[in-house]
Amino acid sequence: MIDFAKLSSKYDTPLYLYDFDDITKNYNELKEAFTARKSLFCYAVKANSNLSVLKHLATLGAGCDCVSIGEVKRALIAGVQSYKIIFSGVGKKDAEIEEALEKKILMINLESEEEMCRVEQIADRINCEARISIRVNPNIDPKTHPYISTGLHENKFGVDIEVAKKMYLYAAKSKSLNPIGIHFHIGSQITQTLPFKEASQVISSLLKSLHAANIDIKFFDVGGGIGIKYKDEETISLYEYAQNIFESLSGEDVTVVCEPGRFLVGNSGYLVTKVLYEKKNDKKRFVIVDAAMNDLLRPSLYKAYHGFELIDAKDDEEKSLADIVGPICESGDFLAKDIYIPQTKHDDIIVIKSAGAYGFTMSSNYNTRPRAAEVALSGGKDRLIRKRETIEDLVEQEIEYL
Ligand SMILES: *Cc1c(COP(=O)(O)O)cnc(C)c1O
Repeated sequence: MIDFAKLSSKYDTPLYLYDFDDITKNYNELKEAFTARKSLFCYAVKANSNLSVLKHLATLGAGCDCVSIGEVKRALIAGVQSYKIIFSGVGKKDAEIEEALEKKILMINLESEEEMCRVEQIADRINCEARISIRVNPNIDPKTHPYISTGLHENKFGVDIEVAKKMYLYAAKSKSLNPIGIHFHIGSQITQTLPFKEASQVISSLLKSLHAANIDIKFFDVGGGIGIKYKDEETISLYEYAQNIFESLSGEDVTVVCEPGRFLVGNSGYLVTKVLYEKKNDKKRFVIVDAAMNDLLRPSLYKAYHGFELIDAKDDEEKSLADIVGPICESGDFLAKDIYIPQTKHDDIIVIKSAGAYGFTMSSNYNTRPRAAEVALSGGKDRLIRKRETIEDLVEQEIEYL
């Protein structure tokens, strides 16, 4: 049991809490499902990029999937081995590509033909070999929120199979490109096994044709996207998920790379907030708290549901319909909408659940609100892993205003 009241008086609110023991449990569960083959788990840094989270996962053996050079640097600072780092993303700048090559990461994941040419030129210029993979868009509907669907032709990610084939043939002949991986990532918060299975089958048939053409692809990267339970979602069986991938790969000697983000950290995180006021009009009841959309954007951005708990509420207390809203000057600023919650009073604590992924990393300083502190819980102990920002931090970069 986490003592939310004690922690919120120790660290103040809004506060992010991450249960590191739970992250370990999730990591081991996934690893277990993949034991039948060589595998590598490259945690998707964008889900939660706190250095202590990265270090914790690195200690468990994880690598990192990064979508900016900033994330690559974070991973390295946290002690992730360079040969376990993948650099993905549709819009890499020249300087980012050059730095990634210099850092000798495992591979750069290419998302277009033009990008391949730039990577080749840069590798030529600095006289190094660029290990690459290509992100293939299998045109499969992951049946998730359209904002987090990435494997359809209407999405900006990856290249078509035919284009990928051409790119591999080109890369195999290039003296500075070394194609070692094949990649797909069809979306996020996927709660069905079938889209993963179909994507694996489509991409593994391309893998087989590349192997037949003597192109030595060593890494079969299935991306991330494993969904978690926010409310009443059915989640996939990890065993079945892995088994489907293995079946599609029968006879092929490759390491399976998996890039889980949300699955590892989502349900291990909590956003702790305090009630400021309640107010009511003829239509609605609002519980106004000290956390807002700048702390947790998912409800505003995707209408995402997060479970919540009013600490010290009694089971038999009468509940009524309300929205939990923040202090930000936007009507879209809510953490929960049309939920049932007992009457609250000033300083009551509300815990927003499943906030470990795409929570703090999507937070901003909108309305000049300092970002929340982050605290790790492990072995019954708590420790601060990111200080609460101050107003001084926020204005530090602003110059010549006098
Ligand atoms: C975001 C992302 C992931 C992680 O997605 P989750 O849904 O959090 O598991 C993995 N790979 C790539 C390329 C991504 O962009």
